[in-house]
Amino acid sequence: MTVYHLPNSDFPYTKLYEKPPQKNVLLLSCMDIRLLDNTAKFMDELNLQNRYDHVIFAGAGLGAGKVESKGEVEVECEKEGKHKRTVDFKWSYVFFDHLSTAITKLKREIKDIFILEHLDCGAYKYFQKNSQDNTDYEQFSYDRRLDRLEHYHEIMANEFADEIDKYCKQKADKYAKANPDAKKSDNPWDGIKVHCLIMDLTGRVKDLPRPTIRTKPTKLKKAKNQV
Ligand SMILES: [Zn+2]
Repeated sequence: MTVYHLPNSDFPYTKLYEKPPQKNVLLLSCMDIRLLDNTAKFMDELNLQNRYDHVIFAGAGLGAGKVESKGEVEVECEKEGKHKRTVDFKWSYVFFDHLSTAITKLKREIKDIFILEHLDCGAYKYFQKNSQDNTDYEQFSYDRRLDRLEHYHEIMANEFADEIDKYCKQKADKYAKANPDAKKSDNPWDGIKVHCLIMDLTGRVKDLPRPTIRTKPTKLKKAKNQV
C-alpha cells in the first residue's frame, strides 16, 4: 500500500471537526477497500455512529456524477415491434433515488451530505472522460503530487455538489408549493448542505473548498525535486 507522508501539510483538517452535524448525514464515498475502516472511523470521530446513510460509488463524486452503465431496455415501435435497445444509465440516477428514498420514504432528517473523495483513487485512472486526464492522474499519483491529485477531486466533487444543490432546491420548491401552509423548517429538503472532503491513504481528512475555480489541471513536467 502507498503511504503518503505529508510533512507541513494541513491534513488532517476539516471544519466539521469543530462543528459536527446535528442531524443525519448522507455519505457518498468510493468503494476503495483500503479506506473502509478509516471512513467509519472518520464518521465516528464526528459522533455520527449509526446516524448516516452510506452510498458507495467507485470514484465518489466522479462516479456518481459522470459515469454511466450500459443496459438493455425493451421498447416497442411500429416498424420493429417489441425489441431490445441498449441505453446508458447514469449512476447519478441511482444516487438521487437513494437520497430521495432516505428523505421521503425513510424520513431521515438529512441536513448534511458528505462527498468523501480520496487520494490515489483507481476510478480516476479509468473513468474520467478524457483519457489523458486518466493517464495524468495515474502519473501524479505515482509521483505523489498531492496538490495535483487534489485538484482533480476538487473539480469533480464540486461539480457533483452543484448537482445535488440543484436537485435539493427543486425538491424543496416542489414541497413548498404542495404544502403552502408548512413552515420552512418542516420542509425536509430545505437547508441541506453539501460538503466536499478528501481522505489521504492514512485516513486523514480535509476540506475541499467550495466554490472552486473550475480549471483543468495541467500536466507537470518532471521536476528535479519531485518526490
Ligand atoms: Zn477510489
